[in-house]
Amino acid sequence: MKPALIVHGGAWDIPDVAVSACKSGCERALTAGWQILEAGGSALDAIEAAVVILEDDPVFDAGYGSHLNLDGRVECDAIVMDGSTLRAGSAATLQHVRNPVRLARKVLENCPHMMLVGDGAERFAQEQVIKLCANEELVTDAEREAWSKCKMGKHASVFHRGHEQGTVGAVAMDRNGQLFAATSTGGTCCKLPGRVGDSPLIGCGCYADHEAGGVSCTGYGEAIMKIVMAKTATDFLRQSSESAMSVARASVDLLASRTHATGGLILLDRQGNPGWAFNTPRMSYGYVQSDGSTVTGV
Ligand code: ASP
Repeated sequence: MKPALIVHGGAWDIPDVAVSACKSGCERALTAGWQILEAGGSALDAIEAAVVILEDDPVFDAGYGSHLNLDGRVECDAIVMDGSTLRAGSAATLQHVRNPVRLARKVLENCPHMMLVGDGAERFAQEQVIKLCANEELVTDAEREAWSKCKMGKHASVFHRGHEQGTVGAVAMDRNGQLFAATSTGGTCCKLPGRVGDSPLIGCGCYADHEAGGVSCTGYGEAIMKIVMAKTATDFLRQSSESAMSVARASVDLLASRTHATGGLILLDRQGNPGWAFNTPRMSYGYVQSDGSTVTGV
């Protein structure tokens, strides 16, 4: 099987000044994931490596540099899903985990449950030898400043570099045909503490089934949840003979027509063909072509 990899850095109104940072973040994520796949490594290792790069990059809304919640704290969610077993590992409302995708993987591999939240999730992280950090270590000056402006008046997305979103995700297939997908987010800015969006929910922000394909979503979580977008896109892949690109488009069209909201997604079909679509002004994404060269776009 030929390996395949696609990543995204969120669908939002990306300003011109952030375009090159978004592209280079996706490029570095692809490089990290592709090195593993090319060397015969697993799709799970590849998506984890790619998402860690995106979480560590403050241009994206995941891990370090996430939007702050109403209390001025970073609160992150993440999921990974195995397309062979249909098992997911998910963790939500994390306040002290630098790389939430690493914890999601530990839940996938070592936990009898599929989703943990809050203190329980962080206790499990420590048991899995994931070091917790101070919440402040995840906060950037730019997000603190945006939050302070919102606190002074009314929340406005324009303070947050003009956007409410910026989630990250990856889908990979390895030489053995194993398919994994992952999504990681800091959620929406000034969200209520305890709010969980689509991202860490199986079928909403992420889904993988090696009989059909794998998907990672981004956008307005409360709307994505309504159409269970990642599972819906996977069902489209299973049922239709359309291309990966057409299926991605149909999924976003459904989001728009049924919820009037904005968002986007990336996917791989069961042959590893990439597809992506969005109805926001921009979405940052990247994938590896069959000759091993990378394409990134914003
Ligand atoms: N879907 C994420 C959420 O609602 C936000 C995003 O994709 O940027 O938490």
